[in-house]
Amino acid sequence: MRILLPLALVVLATVPSAAQKKVSAGPSKPKLAVSIVVDQMRADYLTRFAPLYSGGFKRLVTEGQVFRNAHYTHTPTYTGPGHAVVYTGTDPSNHGIIANDWYDPAIGRTVYCVEDLEVQPVGSTRESDKRSPKNIRSTTWTDELEWASVGAARVYGFSLKDRGAITAAGHYGDGAYWMDDQVGFVTSSHYASALPAWVQAFNAAHSPASYLKGSWDRLMAPSVYESFTGPDERPFEGKLRGASGGSFPYDLAALGAGNPGLIRYTPQGNQILIDVALAAVDAENLGRGTHTDVLAISFSTPDHLGHLMGPRAQELMDVYLRLDLQLGQLFDALDARLGRGNYYVSLTADHGSCDNSNQAALEGFAVRSWSGNEIEAQFGALISGVELDEPGILHIGNDQIHLKSTDDDWELVRDAIMKHPAVQMAWTADEIRSSCDPKAAQRRNAFDARSGQVFYELKSGHMDYGSEGCTHGSGHAYDTHVPVVFMGPGIAPNAQRWERVHPRDIAPTWSMLLGIALPSSTTGDPLPLAN
Ligand SMILES: [Zn+2]
Repeated sequence: MRILLPLALVVLATVPSAAQKKVSAGPSKPKLAVSIVVDQMRADYLTRFAPLYSGGFKRLVTEGQVFRNAHYTHTPTYTGPGHAVVYTGTDPSNHGIIANDWYDPAIGRTVYCVEDLEVQPVGSTRESDKRSPKNIRSTTWTDELEWASVGAARVYGFSLKDRGAITAAGHYGDGAYWMDDQVGFVTSSHYASALPAWVQAFNAAHSPASYLKGSWDRLMAPSVYESFTGPDERPFEGKLRGASGGSFPYDLAALGAGNPGLIRYTPQGNQILIDVALAAVDAENLGRGTHTDVLAISFSTPDHLGHLMGPRAQELMDVYLRLDLQLGQLFDALDARLGRGNYYVSLTADHGSCDNSNQAALEGFAVRSWSGNEIEAQFGALISGVELDEPGILHIGNDQIHLKSTDDDWELVRDAIMKHPAVQMAWTADEIRSSCDPKAAQRRNAFDARSGQVFYELKSGHMDYGSEGCTHGSGHAYDTHVPVVFMGPGIAPNAQRWERVHPRDIAPTWSMLLGIALPSSTTGDPLPLAN
């Protein structure tokens, strides 16, 4: 912990015996809390490929407790809000990360969820690395662990994405590291004034480019992939940049030349996170102190590749089959260092994803993809047909519209966009705040003073995206339904729960397991872990 450490050192220096006594008097604590978020992991990825898993996913299911019916309770279901739910134990209206980017009418511009123009990049010179957790309005369970240990717990978050690492490390964490494609792992002055020597050494020896060699081919026989997910090359799958086709094998050395960011779309994007996480365990001696430490990893590749190719691509299936092995590698390494049964693991996702609408249409579901520009133009045309006090749209995004007009006109705009063929329902801000419609409640759970005046939900299966790949963000089951798994000492193995639970229950579960306070805004409940 950055902020309290000086005080902690003073306290420990003056009353060492009391501090030691306090630690040894409590129940035995796990050495390490391993918190895994897989970006864009639909709940069915854990079951669809289950017969093929032999590594970490298999171990989580057989040694841990799986909640099969966990759903987010907010929209938009995006990375920033979802990760913040996992770490704060509450919905976006409370934790403040109401989207990845939101229009702030008070300042008249779009704000990125972890932007902070007052901090400096560390290990990087990019403006885009001015990042911190300042927009998160709640403590995280990792913050509370820091408070409880007077700063002695060591908390590290890693992701290819800044928001995946920062939401985990929270306000007080010792390190949040995300990836600059050219350099490797970087952070900001919120967490450190310089990259630690071990991070510099890791970047020198393990640059993103250094992972792009050889060929990426299927882990198993092509027929296995065909039987689980269909042919390799299909319409509406995007292609890796520079690739002439959409079929295995991919020449990573050739495709990655001059494009180290390609790593994000390959299994190597997950591997570099496993490697840096284990380097942190060794360099920072995680799990070897008197307090529980935290190793948090958000795997971003499934989201990058999922957006590009969609949930039925053989490439995405291969990423999951390999992530299973990579998680197995992580758990084996932790077993060797800390001993089996000496750490807890949670695994979840920040959101799911839809199927490609155009692919679904080919197969008989009458839906389609609408580009953002198309929807904006069509909404503009519908709204221009009604007479408003003050015409004009300030912003359309996150399925909401910021208007210039007064509340007298909101219902007119709501009724106008309801005429769009893809719109299932629309609401005014007043309705969002009071309606008992469950879809309105999802919007309410990410509503606050920065939100728009008219909200809408597209019909299920329609996506606001390009023609290829897929996206997420809706309140439909394919976006809200994610896996939730806990594994560790005292947790019943092979336990499958089907009751409806929520990812906001993960943070209070960690608080109970670790015997620490709930994050400041928690509204979730501890999961009913069987033992
Ligand atoms: Zn995404």
